[in-house]
Amino acid sequence: MTSNFAERHLGSGPDAIRRMLDTVGYTSLDELMNAAIPESIRWHAELDLPAAGSEAEVLAELRELASRNTVATSMIGLGYYGTHTPGVIKRNVLESPAWYTAYTPYQPEISQGRLEALLNFQTMVCDLTGMHTANASMLDEGTAAAEAMTIARRTSKAKGQVYAVDADTLPQTINVIATRAEPLGIEVKLFDTDRDELPEGVFGVHLQYPGASGAIRDHAPIVEAAHAAGALVTVAGDLLALTLLRAPGEIGADVACGSAQRFGVPMGFGGPHAGYLAVRSGLERALPGRLVGVSKDADGAPAYRLALQTREQHIRREKATSNICTAQVLLAVMASMYAVYHGPDGLRAIARHAHDHATLLAAGLTAGGVELASGQFFDTVTAIVPGRAAEIVAAAEAAGVNLWHVDADRVGIACDETTTAEHLYTVWAAFGVEPADATDVADLALARTTDFLTHPVFRTHHSETAMLRYLRRLSDLDYALDRGMIPLGSCTMKLNATTEMESVTWPEFGAIHPFAPASQTEGYRELIGSLESWLAEITGYDAVSVQPNAGSQGELAGLLAIRAFHRANGDVQRDVCLIPSSAHGTNAASAVMAGMRVVVVACDDLGNVDLVDLDRKIEAQGDRLAAIMVTYPSTHGVYETGIATLCAKVHDAGGQVYVDGANLNALVGFAKPGKFGADVSHLNLHKTFCIPHGGGGPGVGPVAVREHLAPYLPGHPLHPQSGVGAISAAPHGSAGILPIPWAYVRLMGPDGLAQATAHAVLAANYVAVRLREHYPVLYSGNKGLVAHECILDLRTITKATGVTVDDVAKRLIDYGFHAPTMSFPVAGTLMVEPTESEDLGELDRFVAAMIAIKSEIDAVGRGDWPADDNPLVNAPHTVKSVSADIWEHAYPRSVASYPAGVMPVGKYWPPVRRIDGAYGDRNLVCSCPSPEDFE
Ligand SMILES: *Cc1c(COP(=O)(O)O)cnc(C)c1O
Repeated sequence: MTSNFAERHLGSGPDAIRRMLDTVGYTSLDELMNAAIPESIRWHAELDLPAAGSEAEVLAELRELASRNTVATSMIGLGYYGTHTPGVIKRNVLESPAWYTAYTPYQPEISQGRLEALLNFQTMVCDLTGMHTANASMLDEGTAAAEAMTIARRTSKAKGQVYAVDADTLPQTINVIATRAEPLGIEVKLFDTDRDELPEGVFGVHLQYPGASGAIRDHAPIVEAAHAAGALVTVAGDLLALTLLRAPGEIGADVACGSAQRFGVPMGFGGPHAGYLAVRSGLERALPGRLVGVSKDADGAPAYRLALQTREQHIRREKATSNICTAQVLLAVMASMYAVYHGPDGLRAIARHAHDHATLLAAGLTAGGVELASGQFFDTVTAIVPGRAAEIVAAAEAAGVNLWHVDADRVGIACDETTTAEHLYTVWAAFGVEPADATDVADLALARTTDFLTHPVFRTHHSETAMLRYLRRLSDLDYALDRGMIPLGSCTMKLNATTEMESVTWPEFGAIHPFAPASQTEGYRELIGSLESWLAEITGYDAVSVQPNAGSQGELAGLLAIRAFHRANGDVQRDVCLIPSSAHGTNAASAVMAGMRVVVVACDDLGNVDLVDLDRKIEAQGDRLAAIMVTYPSTHGVYETGIATLCAKVHDAGGQVYVDGANLNALVGFAKPGKFGADVSHLNLHKTFCIPHGGGGPGVGPVAVREHLAPYLPGHPLHPQSGVGAISAAPHGSAGILPIPWAYVRLMGPDGLAQATAHAVLAANYVAVRLREHYPVLYSGNKGLVAHECILDLRTITKATGVTVDDVAKRLIDYGFHAPTMSFPVAGTLMVEPTESEDLGELDRFVAAMIAIKSEIDAVGRGDWPADDNPLVNAPHTVKSVSADIWEHAYPRSVASYPAGVMPVGKYWPPVRRIDGAYGDRNLVCSCPSPEDFE
């Protein structure tokens, strides 16, 4: 018996399943799965998980867990602040499937809405930091700071290996920087900017502005000294403070980084939030991550797309300098909309609110004889209270306000948008001082004199009506799962159920500071504990950490665990990571970041890892072999039968086996990597476990290990946990979205989860069988079956007709579909992953569109249409283009706009025609264009 929910999650019911099985040639799902999955890896028992709960039951359980979190007022600061998410943004972005079910904007013609929002984000970051180019979000401030360090290492001409870090930097940032520095041979040296000279041998300097203690310092002299030494300077700046303070760019900073959390994004016990990274002019090509830029479409109209895509770091594999792939798009959109809604004056007023409260607080403390660490602050003051810190923090906590217990003698207090006079009274009482009266607000040190957010977009949508319409207008431009299927191979675009999403915006999950006292986070910790144990059961591993906030970060965490394990065994020389040629680009990039050398293993003609080449490579590396990193099922979409042999060969040679678990949707309930020979995996909870892609993030990439690697899971400086150091800024990474996978597992139960896998495999095989005679299916495994995705090979078609995968992808837009994954893992192919959530009707609609497109390709091949004027090369077609008064194409308007099978009602119209990416790369513009450009 499936629960009610599993029937909702699975697109197809029993009749449809029977029809699909008939087509594929099997009598039952069991028979299909027995044939598809090699017996050598098969797990035959049921997963030991709680039985499925109904939606009502699971929501009630979540309510109960939520009630065991205490929503206190957190004045802890340290990079996480109270903020009011405007209701119009909460409901129409964070809770809107039009935004949260979208994919990364690799198909820019159907992504103009989120690309505009991200361009606003980049513009906002550039304006506030005074930098030239900002990317469209980093995973958090800590990882952004670590990426800044590597930008400095690559671009500085200084020979030294020292990275000097301001001692007044957020403790979690220092820790993430240290984790990333160690394998790269970089020496991190803390220095006190008030007292110490710059250390010798620096290639880069990291400064916090304002400091973690709240102090505002004039960093200009340090920037000058660093530049004189040939070093680059990164300033981690608080975006809200920068509305009032001199921008890092104005003192010559090379890189700026930080977090956009306090721009309307709930704290969520640590995440997800958008980190930011921006660089001065001349460094834009060294910037990792996704960069939105302006280009033009086939009609010359301005259009947005990801700029310099080939520069997206992980695509460069072992030559990559960063592994970032999934970022924090949904949260970047929220933060950008917060700026759009409030505008520069509104942001300044919010900043002044925080500053005025801090000033008043400080006045009361000083009048009461409390010494402050600095008289120059924005929103945070550090009180010096010899021996009394614990007592004061406890008194405030008892009254519902969390302060920061710096050490026995110091207490940190941060004000923010949500701070009220009541809160200040509580704090004064905890310190035993009298309340202060309204005080004269002193001028800020280093006050900002330059304007920002001058673009009209930040000055137009300030009424709620205007904002609502702006959000609606942008989301209407985009294609997301709320419109139709997104059959992206490797990305697993499955249902993100409303019930799974529901609790994310409850304050008991949203309004919790990551460093809140443990007594206030009992519910969260139980939820995380059960999720980690369920994931361990599902994967067959012994320990799981949810700290990594994307798949790429899970990879790095897993490889660092392997590295630490070898070192602990005295095998310091083991530094080679074998990676098959078919691997996802993040794999090689992560290996390099973990201090490993990448050696590529070939694949054979069937797409399997070539075991003969593997033997050769193992032999050649000898005792330098550290690990192999394979994806299972492979990125070729097949269950390789040689996997158990592969694991054994690597183990025999002293290496560890890393199985990239991004394709776990083909394994859950049927095979466990931790049991078939792997030592470590990361999972992608934003793929297999229903966290929505959010237009390119958030994600969660837990790392799962066998017992011998458990001591090397990620740690955290502010959290009692052993390990190799922090991978993310927050102890539990993007904790705020963990209720989603938790709810998915609870709702599906062991049986439902296994059914999802079987349905996903059936759907992929159904598509493969239906399309096989029209497009060759590149690889298949046992009995000609594919796993949960299939690769359609267009290379011979392209050779014969000139029609490319790009043309097919863009033509699919006219048919109302998002393209499958293009040219990964094999150039010139499309990889289709239908998932279990799409119903047979939608699968058939997709198959019909692909067949119709094939007949269009054939028409081009026959010469019925010229190679340079046909519905494929001209796709996609906009309303404007097909309603033009003059139509001079070789095919009729009706073929352009309503090809076979497309119903006029409800048709998706792209807002722009095909975008010229190269033009935009030659003329790089990565902030908002002026309105005149659209005339
Ligand atoms: C998606 C994916 C990754 C990277 O995950 P991110 O969350 O985008 O960092 C790694 N490997 C494979 C096979 C993937 O499909």
